[in-house]
Amino acid sequence: MVTAQECIFCKIVRNEIPSKRVYEDENNIAFLDINPASPGHVLVVPKKHFGSMHDIDASTMEKLGTAVKKVNDIVKEKLNCEGTNVMLNNGRIAGQIVEHIHFHIIPRYQGDGIELHFPRFKTDEKYFDEMQKKLAAPAEKRKAADDDWTRFA
Ligand code: 5GP
Ligand code: ZN
Repeated sequence: MVTAQECIFCKIVRNEIPSKRVYEDENNIAFLDINPASPGHVLVVPKKHFGSMHDIDASTMEKLGTAVKKVNDIVKEKLNCEGTNVMLNNGRIAGQIVEHIHFHIIPRYQGDGIELHFPRFKTDEKYFDEMQKKLAAPAEKRKAADDDWTRFA
């Protein structure tokens, strides 16, 4: 696990490494992604170090969400893009590389070449019934539930 001392985004927050900031409030900053997917690709991060959405407290998350909305509005208005993809990767399995929670705001333009592809899997009535039961159950039950995803594949 990365500590706040060694975390690259904490270093950006502390101004120990340079970044192109585009927004700041009491709890969050937003800066240009160093390797943009499209012109204006911005990252929004809390000033305090949290690894992912699994770790962050609800109040900090709420403030981060509000900042994401503000930055998304700024991006849309200033860059005149047609839309945006707002993304958050939780954990390595989901494509998270930097272990400090961050939202990507990726402006979308006609012909930008970005392809978001989520392969879908075959479902049946049983899948929807069981999944709803698992997700809607009280937390203790959810933990005890059998997490065998492969049977839906
Ligand atoms: P992840 O895959 O963790 O969701 O995305 C991390 C993002 O951070 C990537 O899009 C990457 O280009 C960006 N990034 C990584 N290191 C730096 C950095 O030092 N400065 C800036 N501005 N962006 C960074
Ligand atoms: Zn950090």
